[in-house]
Amino acid sequence: MRERGADHQLRVDWPACQARGVCFELLPELIELDDWGYPVVGGPVTPELLTAARAAVHGCPRMALRLLPG
Ligand code: SF4
Repeated sequence: MRERGADHQLRVDWPACQARGVCFELLPELIELDDWGYPVVGGPVTPELLTAARAAVHGCPRMALRLLPG
């Protein structure tokens, strides 16, 4: 079941990110880590993944993740 209609986007604040990988642990459906441990976001945040995406945003120890509509 879809929560509202639109997808969201995850944005990484690269200067803030320290490649700790917490976001990958909280949202493995959408985030992979590159060879240096930096997150690679695999696509838009569908309504089904919105709760997990919010957990990743709140769980990032560097506050380097943002969730944007659209
Ligand atoms: S949890 Fe935050 S600091 Fe860690 S890799 Fe993800 S975006 Fe970067």
